[in-house]
Amino acid sequence: MSRYDLHCHSTHSDGLLAPAAVVARAIERGVDVLALTDHDEVSGLAEAREAAAAGGITLVCGSELSVSWGNITIHVVALGIDPQNAALTEGLETIRSGRTARARRIADTLANAGIPGAFEGAMKYVTSERLVSRTHFARFLVEAGYAREVKDVFNRYLTRGKPGYVAHQWATLPQAVGWIHAAGGQAVIAHPGRYDVSATGMRRLLSEFCDVGGDALEVVSSSHTPAQAVEFATHARVFGLRASCGSDWHGPEESWIDLGGLPELPAGVVPVWKDW
Ligand code: AMP
Ligand code: MN
Ligand code: MN
Ligand code: MN
Repeated sequence: MSRYDLHCHSTHSDGLLAPAAVVARAIERGVDVLALTDHDEVSGLAEAREAAAAGGITLVCGSELSVSWGNITIHVVALGIDPQNAALTEGLETIRSGRTARARRIADTLANAGIPGAFEGAMKYVTSERLVSRTHFARFLVEAGYAREVKDVFNRYLTRGKPGYVAHQWATLPQAVGWIHAAGGQAVIAHPGRYDVSATGMRRLLSEFCDVGGDALEVVSSSHTPAQAVEFATHARVFGLRASCGSDWHGPEESWIDLGGLPELPAGVVPVWKDW
């Protein structure tokens, strides 16, 4: 049986390793099918594809799109896309275009909270001039002694209601799914267990996602407990969505589960790779 890991990051967004190094680690860890899914970006895929071909594993071209849904941000993973598709690449460029201005606003709110120099501090950690993310701020805040590790920073600084959070408008759900489909890919709701919504809100999200043609739900994720995997497997069955699995790996020391270290999909779901 093949080992799938369909969600991870490289230096082309907020991961710590270059695409070829991510692929090398996946091979070492026994992954057979890997999707590289950098935030709002496809520029790392060429390097990843070459490394995967040389190493004898399958690389699925992916991305993780930032989406505003009501007043929360959700992530939609794209799998099996054509990275050259113009609708998709232009859409991703639109999503990325607000990031630097947002980073300035994040730095301003941190300055107001008594943390100076955060913009410059975060930029030191940026590895692609095309993309600055909250993760880069998190790494700066750890370096500057405001938190012990990146995993702690978000609870205290960069999430809603905390200093260092600013609201931001990303793509809409129909836009994101439309771009992914235009590029021949499947749209997957990433780590649903992370969203701050009620049970009713989750059903509303999944039903809107189905209405716009969404394909799958990330049932197994490093963000989920075993109980949540079972819960989201049920949601996938009820809503007729396929099931995906991804470690959401960002780098050594920064992730709960390593590449390829995920448990299997719960029984009774249709895997997102069924027709691959
Ligand atoms: P951004 O797209 O700039 O809003 O940054 C989002 C990224 O921050 C996510 O992809 C994660 O890598 C990281 N992140 C967000 N929330 C958390 C959290 N609670 N714990 C750890 N990392 C997080
Ligand atoms: Mn990330
Ligand atoms: Mn995400
Ligand atoms: Mn991710």
